[in-house]
Amino acid sequence: MRALLLVIPALFVVGSLLRLSSEPRQDPPVGYADTPHLPGSPWRVHDGTRPQPPVVTPGSGGTAPSDAIVLFDGRDLSRWKSGDGPARWKVAEGAMEVNGTGSIRTQQEFGDLQLHLEWAAPAQVESSSQGRGNSGVFLMGRYEVQILDSYENRTYADGSAAALYAQYPPDVNACRAPGEWQSYDIFFQAPKFDGDTLVSPARVTVVHNGVLVHHAREFLGATTHRNVAAYAPHAPTGPIELQDHGNPVRFRNVWARRL
Ligand code: MG
Repeated sequence: MRALLLVIPALFVVGSLLRLSSEPRQDPPVGYADTPHLPGSPWRVHDGTRPQPPVVTPGSGGTAPSDAIVLFDGRDLSRWKSGDGPARWKVAEGAMEVNGTGSIRTQQEFGDLQLHLEWAAPAQVESSSQGRGNSGVFLMGRYEVQILDSYENRTYADGSAAALYAQYPPDVNACRAPGEWQSYDIFFQAPKFDGDTLVSPARVTVVHNGVLVHHAREFLGATTHRNVAAYAPHAPTGPIELQDHGNPVRFRNVWARRL
């Protein structure tokens, strides 16, 4: 009898839970239905029926946001390749390091993207100008945001850290000291072609260590050396490439979000 007394309320609780979960959740109304439409938009100002932005859990202290493609998490190079084979950079202490085995590029290809990466130039300063902590991030395998130890290191301006190499210096030099971790947050819009004709150039916004250094800057074309860049039509996506320029630059916490 006592068992029955316990079972009956339990069934009641389970029944009401099932009923609750099968009913669509009724959110209280928000917004307005009598406001004017936004220009060229199906939505009204403060439209309560406008879709909610998807929820993303932001990263913090070295972790990627929940909707990012993690390209390097400190453990392995499985998302990278070099030439036709696997990437062979050194992986140690949560970082990957340039080691003379050649540039590496992502297995996946990207068009418009947000890219976060952290890099560190060698703590030991051994050279000068372009020989100091040189690497680079090539968007679509073509458009380079320069990596260089530009901390008290004079070089040609369009080759300094965060320069669009051979095209535009960064607005300011936000470089940290050799050996210190630095961050790039890159927002890239791929160029668009109609057949052989350039319709819109590649555009990039670059934040170096939290400092805006390029805002919607247009690339003149694919990166060159000692020459003026020009556009040649290419596929709408391409890999992210990290340059082996012979200096043991380290990378960590690399992630991308398609836009
Ligand atoms: Mg470079």
